[in-house]
Amino acid sequence: MVKYISNKGGGQGVDFETAILDGYAIDGGLYVPTHLPEISMDQLRRWKNLSYTDLAFQILSLFIDRSVMSEAELKSLISEAYASFEQKDIIPLYKLKSREDAYIMELFYGPTISFKDIGMAFLVNLVNFFLNRKDKRLSIIVATTGDTGPAAAHFIAGKSNMDAWVLYPKGMITEEQERQMTTLQHANIHPVGVSNCPDGGDDLDAVISRLYANKVFKEKLQLSSVNSLNWGRIMMQTVHYFFGYFRVVDAVGEEVNIAVPSGGFGNVCAGSLARIMGLPIKTMIVANNDNACLHRIFSEGFLSKVAIFETLSSAIDILIPINFWRYLYFTCGKDTEKIKTWIDTFESEGLVRFDEKTFDLYSNGFLSHSSTDEDTLKLIKEIYESEDYLLDPHGAVALAAADYLKDRLGKNKLICLATAHPAKFPAIIRKALGTHDLPQKGTHPGIERAKKLCQKTFTCDFEHLETALIHAMESNLDLNVKNSH
Ligand SMILES: *Cc1c(COP(=O)(O)O)cnc(C)c1O
Repeated sequence: MVKYISNKGGGQGVDFETAILDGYAIDGGLYVPTHLPEISMDQLRRWKNLSYTDLAFQILSLFIDRSVMSEAELKSLISEAYASFEQKDIIPLYKLKSREDAYIMELFYGPTISFKDIGMAFLVNLVNFFLNRKDKRLSIIVATTGDTGPAAAHFIAGKSNMDAWVLYPKGMITEEQERQMTTLQHANIHPVGVSNCPDGGDDLDAVISRLYANKVFKEKLQLSSVNSLNWGRIMMQTVHYFFGYFRVVDAVGEEVNIAVPSGGFGNVCAGSLARIMGLPIKTMIVANNDNACLHRIFSEGFLSKVAIFETLSSAIDILIPINFWRYLYFTCGKDTEKIKTWIDTFESEGLVRFDEKTFDLYSNGFLSHSSTDEDTLKLIKEIYESEDYLLDPHGAVALAAADYLKDRLGKNKLICLATAHPAKFPAIIRKALGTHDLPQKGTHPGIERAKKLCQKTFTCDFEHLETALIHAMESNLDLNVKNSH
C-alpha cells in the first residue's frame, strides 16, 4: 500500500484516506505519495482507446488500493463525477487550422466551465464517500482566484455532511465567476467576498493556513480543504494528460509537447507526474502572465516575493506556486529536509535561490514564458478571425507561450490546455475582438441563467477576515447541531 508523507518531512506517514480527508499535512506541508506507479509502453498501448472515465478508472486504480474501495465503488464515483459534463467525451480536442500539428485540449465542459471541475468533481465525491462511511462531517474552506470557488461550491452544494466556505478577493474576479458561487441557494454553501486583499488569492490562502495551524479550532470545526494542496486534485489531474496524449499521437511512444497556463502549478505538477510515471512528454511549457513567478523559477532559478499585477488572465494571478514544492519532492531525490529549508527560507526572507544542481534537475524537460495582456488580446483576436475559434484568456496565454518558444520546441505535436470557457470573461473577449456584441461562442447558458438569480454572500474586509470567519463558522456549527437534534 502506498504511503503519503508531508513534503516537509514532518509527522508520520498516513494512508490514502487520511491524506484526502486532511488536505494539509500536520506540519503544513503537502502530502506526496512515497512512490509513483510506473506505467510501461505496453500498458499505455492497451489504454490508447479507452474513454476518459475508463482511463480514469485504470489510472486511479494504481493509486487507490482495493482495500480502500472496491472496483465497483471506484467506478461509480468516477461515473457520477463526470455525469454532469456537457460533452460525452468529457475533454474534447480541437485541431488548430492556423498552426501545424497543434491541438487545443478543452478542459472546460464541466458544470462551472473551467478545468477546476475536472479535479473537483472527483475529489468532492471521494471526500463524501469517506465521510459517509465514517459518519463524519467536514467544513471545507477554499480560496479562489475565480474558478476553484465555483467548482467547489457546485459539487459540495447539497452534500449532507459538508459545508463549503468559499473565500474570494472581491473585485479581482469577474462578475460571472462571482455569480457562479453566490447564486447557489443551498444552505451548506457560504461564499465570502473579501475586500482589500493586497495580494489577491494568495492572501486568502495565508489566512486559511493560519486557521489550519490552530489545532483547537481545526478540531472543533473539522476543517479540511479541497484546494489544489489536496493530493486528490493532483492525482485526478494526471488523467487528462494521458487522455489528451492518446487522442493526438499516431502511435504510442511518440513524444508530444504540452503547454499549460499556470499559477499554483497544480496542473503542471500533475502533468509532470504523468511524465515521471511514463507518459512520453518531451517538453512541458509553463505559461505565465505578467505574474511571472514560475517563469523566473524555470528560467532563472529563483522564487521571490513580489507585488501582484492584476491581469486579464486573472485565474493565474498567483505569486506562490504551492504545488511547485510538491513537484520538487519527486525531482530532488525526495529530500524533504531540503524542501523544508527552501520553504522556510522563502517564508522568512521572501527569496529562495536554487543551487545549480537542483535547478538542472527540476528544469529538465521544461520551457517557460510569460506573456503580456497585449499578447493575450492579440492572440484571441487572431485565432478568432483566422479560424472562427474563441480562446479564453488563459488558453491564449498557453498558446502565446508555445508560439513564442516555437523554435526551441522542435517538430513534435503540441497540446495547449484551454482551462476556461470564454463565457467567464465576456468583457475581455469584447475588448480583444473590438466589438460590443459578444459572439455566440462567447456565451454559455449557465452564465446567462446565473445573471437572473438572487445572490447570497457574506462580505468582509481582509483585515478582519480571520475573526469574522471563525465567528461565522462557529455560528453555523451551532445551527447544524441544533438542527440535528
Ligand atoms: C486554476 C486555473 C489555472 C491554473 O492552474 P494551476 O493548477 O493553479 O497552475 C489556469 N487557468 C484557469 C482558467 C484556472 O482556473
